[in-house]
Amino acid sequence: MAPLSGRVALVTGSTSGIGLGIAQALASEGADIVLHGLGSPDAIAAARRSVEAAGVRVTVSGADVADPAAIQRMAADAADAFGRVDILVNNAGIQHTATIADFPDERWDAVIAINLSAAFHTIKAFSPAMRQAGWGRVINIASAHGLVASAQKAAYVAAKHGLLGLTKVAAIELADAGVTVNAICPGWVLTPLVQAQIEARAAQSGRSVREEEVALLREKQPMAAFTTPEQIGAMAVYLCSDAACTVSGVPLSIDGGWTAQ
Ligand code: NAD
Repeated sequence: MAPLSGRVALVTGSTSGIGLGIAQALASEGADIVLHGLGSPDAIAAARRSVEAAGVRVTVSGADVADPAAIQRMAADAADAFGRVDILVNNAGIQHTATIADFPDERWDAVIAINLSAAFHTIKAFSPAMRQAGWGRVINIASAHGLVASAQKAAYVAAKHGLLGLTKVAAIELADAGVTVNAICPGWVLTPLVQAQIEARAAQSGRSVREEEVALLREKQPMAAFTTPEQIGAMAVYLCSDAACTVSGVPLSIDGGWTAQ
């Protein structure tokens, strides 16, 4: 039997990028999946097919995680579809880059709501059933920017540092319930979120997208290579395994040496 067979995983922001890689990895270990996120109907249908290919059951939620009431409805829908959620991956995220002086208030609020407050609301909604079941896994997708800062990313860095704090508190509160809570801290992963940053840099500098891609990596990472969504998916699978049952409250870096410096 596949190791996660009989488990149900909800991965926020899994219609794209890292979240989709995690959903595919958990499905390949046998978990049924609540796929979640925004996007075009065609892109969401393609993502769904790619997860269903593992032979597991899949439902899709389009809840706006900036809205706590929508998170409540998503929890109720997941319970209707599968009975419960055993594995919660808080991955949905957005970015906005500007200096603090120029940072629009509305973008600050949105980045904090989606990258930080949403994880508070999902943990609040889903962890009581995990406690009752005596088993659960919460995985928060933070970032190297949960551990160190960069200019022009005030909201993102604040949200990701906050997410690590939330991870530690939840790990302590759930330590007696068979539930682990951890954070994965990736360095650069070539997803739509990062592609947009590279293209903005190229438009500003006049250099090619490929040149900006290499420059972006070299500025931060001793290893000038992107981590892949599949590699992050494999780390999530490890955190869901019995081998990781006492790993809790930690940030796991997967960042090409970025935060070793
Ligand atoms: P992405 O843009 O490819 O995917 C983001 C996902 O979040 C999408 O599915 C999108 O629909 C969803 N989403 C965004 N806003 C939402 C909202 N309001 N409600 C519901 N869903 C929403 O981005 P990605 O690069 O795969 O990033 C995923 C996570 O990984 C983010 O939390 C990001 O901060 C983190 N991360 C990314 C990198 C990187 O280099 N790409 C590095 C470190 C951490």
